[in-house]
Amino acid sequence: GGLLRLSGLSLTYPNGTRALDGLDLAVAEGEFLSLLGASGCGKSTVLRLVAGLIAPTAGAVAWERPLARGDVGFVFQEPTLMPWARILDNVRLPLDLAGMDRAEGNARAAEGLERVGLGDFLRAWPRELSGGMKMRAALARALVTRPRLLLLDEPFAALDEITRLKLNDDLLALWRRERFTTLFVTHSVFESVYLSSRIAIMKARPGRVVADLPVDLPWPRD
Ligand code: ADP
Ligand code: ADP
Repeated sequence: GGLLRLSGLSLTYPNGTRALDGLDLAVAEGEFLSLLGASGCGKSTVLRLVAGLIAPTAGAVAWERPLARGDVGFVFQEPTLMPWARILDNVRLPLDLAGMDRAEGNARAAEGLERVGLGDFLRAWPRELSGGMKMRAALARALVTRPRLLLLDEPFAALDEITRLKLNDDLLALWRRERFTTLFVTHSVFESVYLSSRIAIMKARPGRVVADLPVDLPWPRD
């Protein structure tokens, strides 16, 4: 079923930049939807609106059910781990904020780190991890609340090509096992075709989705 519908979404920043102008987009449960477009076309703005970090100038972000804490997981281009906290504590943070008991939070965070291949690094500090590993930890933190929607904003853009390929593969494998609904922002045609079940292409002028394509990968999805 439908999870989220953006209708007639417009956003003009205080300095007058019209980032979005009447954007329509629906997100279905369980899909991996890529939002593909050149830098500056408004992709990050869409994610900020979906996450409720900013409010639209016009139009609406309509969730199928009211949004609760932990319903949206966000991964940015930078992994943004807290340097003074161990990896396990970083990943447990959203559960702490949700008021979860610490022991249960630790168990859930450890399980999440195992799912992204970091089961041996629970006690490590962020500075001890490579860029790719930090990004895996950020992914585990975004998924630890079992969000209804995972938002990924160019998560691999800062990584070297080989690490990036590996993370693409691992993200695809994880999604195929767990089917968390994902809205993935990228300017990479390769990544959008490789990972998605659907691609929405955005253009800066007019600040809307201009094409919406199902992706039929040459390998089975189930
Ligand atoms: P993308 O993620 O596709 O690169 P953004 O959503 O970041 O695009 O930006 C869309 C447009 O809005 C761009 O022209 C950008 O310069 C502008 N923009 C983004 N954030 C702000 C801001 N906080 N204030 C003013 N303009 C902004
Ligand atoms: P703090 O981070 O507040 O100093 P602890 O050092 O007690 O707290 O560790 C936080 C949690 O990490 C503990 O509750 C424990 O479950 C878990 N933990 C501790 N050591 C390990 C380990 N070697 N491997 C995995 N988990 C660990």
